Amino acid sequence: MKRMRRTKILATLGPASEQDEVVERLFEAGADIFRINMSHSSHDILRTRVSQLRAMEAKFGRPIGILADLQGPKLRVGIFKDGAVTLANGQRFILDSNPEPGDESRVQLPHPEILEPLEVGHTIIIDDGKLKLRVVEETRTHAVTIVEVGGKISNKKGVSLPDTMIPVSAMTAKDRADLDAALEIGVDWIALSFVQRPEDVAEVRKMARGRALVMAKIEKPQAVARLEEIMEISDAVMVARGDLGVEMPLEKVPGIQKRITRLGRRLGKPVVVATQMLESMIVSPVPTRAEVSDVGTAVFEGADAVMLSAESAAGQFPVQAVATMNRIAEEIEADQNYAVIIAGQRGEPEHTGADAIAAAARQIAETIDLKAIVAWTLSGSTALRIARERPLTPILVLTAKAQTARRLTLVWGVHPVIGEDIRDVTEMAERGAEAALREGFAIPGQRVILVAGVPFGTPGATNMIRIAFVNADAKG
Ligand code: PEP
Repeated sequence: MKRMRRTKILATLGPASEQDEVVERLFEAGADIFRINMSHSSHDILRTRVSQLRAMEAKFGRPIGILADLQGPKLRVGIFKDGAVTLANGQRFILDSNPEPGDESRVQLPHPEILEPLEVGHTIIIDDGKLKLRVVEETRTHAVTIVEVGGKISNKKGVSLPDTMIPVSAMTAKDRADLDAALEIGVDWIALSFVQRPEDVAEVRKMARGRALVMAKIEKPQAVARLEEIMEISDAVMVARGDLGVEMPLEKVPGIQKRITRLGRRLGKPVVVATQMLESMIVSPVPTRAEVSDVGTAVFEGADAVMLSAESAAGQFPVQAVATMNRIAEEIEADQNYAVIIAGQRGEPEHTGADAIAAAARQIAETIDLKAIVAWTLSGSTALRIARERPLTPILVLTAKAQTARRLTLVWGVHPVIGEDIRDVTEMAERGAEAALREGFAIPGQRVILVAGVPFGTPGATNMIRIAFVNADAKG
């Protein structure tokens, strides 16, 4: 099964996509990699999902990626005597450490580590931006605030602190337990929520020990301020526009998205654009024009993947949402301006053998109209360097490691295939041509370009390119 687009689709699973049949239809409609949101999934659900997806992978004979998204330190207020209160603009309201149910004058903020770093002048946002408080007095046990934007506040509503650097790691005890479970079950990617600093990502990487790759969700101003350092240490990033649009002025989000996609391209790190992409499709079979345009913008920007959240997890039209995203990406990539825009963002290759070869392979393939760039990789790094070039020629990646193939399902333009390693140059030409024929990239008489490293099977040894004909007797 070959996709007719380079941009990948990451679909979140949930109650609307529980049955095998629905998940299979999501895959057939275009989902390349699936997200399991640990905010809503027990370890039993995680286990069931992973076996469901691995069984589907075997059935379709195509690698399928799995991303476990850790909840992170989602802050919430405590509970109220009557379930909710309404706060008026200009009134005082106290957040404290007292577990007694709250009222119109106060409520518990059950995170002692947060009360401490709050400072006078800091903003506190409640319920995704519906209420806004400003701190006017602060002690270790309570913060007195003035309500700047009032409204109804009810039990356990979410709290965002855009100005406050929280002195704890982005991982809670629940996240650690979820991470252990996800690594043991063998997911391919781990996403980390509410990253503030590079150290947050380093901590997960240390625990993962290479068993899964780590994606930093960029959703806090503190992460935006240290974007480059965070991207350097992460294997990929997500523009998590939901929380980003709560913690920062909404109108800043498009510019930040552009900065992240550009930086991702420069560094050769995959970028996922997420949240509300086809939001209206939760309840409608047809998206709005603005949503179509939003997906189109991400595709034109050269994002590696576009994500569906509630649309595929809890909406009424999960399969249609994936099919719609697939159609938009295909159409944009066929647009006359697409290739020019993508090429316009290409940076210089870094001064490494792998980058020089990736750049040369793209140039040769485009100059003499080769049908595929066929690359062997063990770790996946050669594939990432070729994808960074954003060639118009399809990238067919052959790897002996199922784990690598699954990880690469997220990466722009890469068609990963699990296969045996090659031992010599003759095998390289034969196997490359066979794979291009079998996977539908070339027909006999056409040519492909092969990229590998000698000695074969040595990670990081990319040092060779060769043009090969696809013969009529190649085994298709
Ligand atoms: C987001 O905030 O945009 C996001 C993707 O994270 P979550 O769905 O976990 O809130």
